[in-house]
Amino acid sequence: MELWFTEKQTENFGITMKIHETYVNEQTEFQDLAMVKTEEFGNMLLLDGMVMTTEKDEFVYHEMVAHPVLYTHPNPEHVLVVGGGDGGVIREVLKHPQVKKAVLVDIDGKVIEYSKKYLPSIAGKLEDARVEVLVGDGFMHIHDHKAAYDVIMVDSTEPVGPAANLFTRGFYQGIYEALREDGIFVAQTDNPWFKADLIQSVNKDVKEVFPIVRVYGANIPTYPSGLWTFTMGSKKYDPLEVDETAIPEIDTKYYTPRLHKAAFVLPRFVEDLIK
Ligand code: SAM
Repeated sequence: MELWFTEKQTENFGITMKIHETYVNEQTEFQDLAMVKTEEFGNMLLLDGMVMTTEKDEFVYHEMVAHPVLYTHPNPEHVLVVGGGDGGVIREVLKHPQVKKAVLVDIDGKVIEYSKKYLPSIAGKLEDARVEVLVGDGFMHIHDHKAAYDVIMVDSTEPVGPAANLFTRGFYQGIYEALREDGIFVAQTDNPWFKADLIQSVNKDVKEVFPIVRVYGANIPTYPSGLWTFTMGSKKYDPLEVDETAIPEIDTKYYTPRLHKAAFVLPRFVEDLIK
């Protein structure tokens, strides 16, 4: 019998994949967690029925969370990843030699545990000496650490369940205070086809807190609509003023120095959302 999984984005639209095998399907303290093997995208992590990452296309999301912001800050030594328990963003962060310490705070230790087991190419750098892995609430961590980080990356689930308060103005204010005087943060902000309201409300809230706010996009086939957005808030440095010729060619599959500014060129319907 064929087994197919559908992530429903609306009552009438979803993304469907053929499942080869189910490794894990359990309710953790915080969310429904499933780890499955797909025919098309390799192993895949699902939380509350939503695709978090797959072995085949994870590189787009993880590179595009990490590199635009790290190549905008001239000296990112202390980095925080909120969420991100699959380890993909940390793997990319470690490609930056200036980073002395990268702290990861995910609320759900089970995500970390199963990612290490079933997604080793993604989670394989979580044991690196520069990495500190904490299991806890990113919201609380932000509030307990003032002026501690150069760069903060929010690699969270959608704004439901444990991540609901990671999409609030109070959280962005906390991030502002957790950053040093020239700090920058970036957050994944979902897709403009079905989550236009979210992109608009995040943009409004971040603009109330940060002087420089930029939105960029990337193509991710297993995320609803394929067009994903990221919102950056910065105290001082503008990603659009970066000298692309000074960005080194590192080992990536999506991000390039040429793409750094190009990713911020948005289709008009997305531009209109954040005017
Ligand atoms: N890339 C994915 C996406 O956009 O669909 C998200 C990756 S997934 C690893 C996000 C992680 O955020 C989950 O492991 C979840 O446990 C974590 N998370 C959710 N709420 C959190 C919170 N309040 N504090 C820390 N981590 C949180």
